[in-house]
Amino acid sequence: MNMRNYKPREKKTVTDFTTKRRKKICRFCENNIDYIDYKDERLLRRFVTERGKIVPRRISGNCAIHQRKLTKAIKRGRHLAIMAFESESFR
Ligand SMILES: [Zn+2]
Repeated sequence: MNMRNYKPREKKTVTDFTTKRRKKICRFCENNIDYIDYKDERLLRRFVTERGKIVPRRISGNCAIHQRKLTKAIKRGRHLAIMAFESESFR
């Protein structure tokens, strides 16, 4: 295969991809947060969708360590009825 002759079908998509790619900084790493409080509803709310689902890492931009801690905090919050499992109003 001659890879030199390979041209993407649309130039636009290539440029879009490069411009869209921003440097994602984990919010918790940035603020040096080691423990994510499950009682902090306002914080957790920012990492769940309107339907109550946890926002995936590729969208939230969290690092693996903090995403795991966040997930645990959200699940703990759900169990204690701080967070909603799923919002029914969007059904
Ligand atoms: Zn982090």
